[in-house]
Amino acid sequence: MHVDPICGKQLPDSEGAPSVEYRRRRYYFCSPTCRAAFLKRTERARIRELARVGALLSDGKVRWGLA
Ligand SMILES: [Zn+2]
Repeated sequence: MHVDPICGKQLPDSEGAPSVEYRRRRYYFCSPTCRAAFLKRTERARIRELARVGALLSDGKVRWGLA
């Protein structure tokens, strides 16, 4: 049994459901809309991570947590 991480809907049958692999885990969605919403979130998280790495590389001159 999988749960759609976007809308919380339970998916008794993940066969053929839209899915995404993220950080070695597979996530299933009730619809392509939820899948797109998930991708948008992971993309934002990835950009934040890259920004943090950039901040570390520049001696932490950039401040985070203000956004
Ligand atoms: Zn959904």
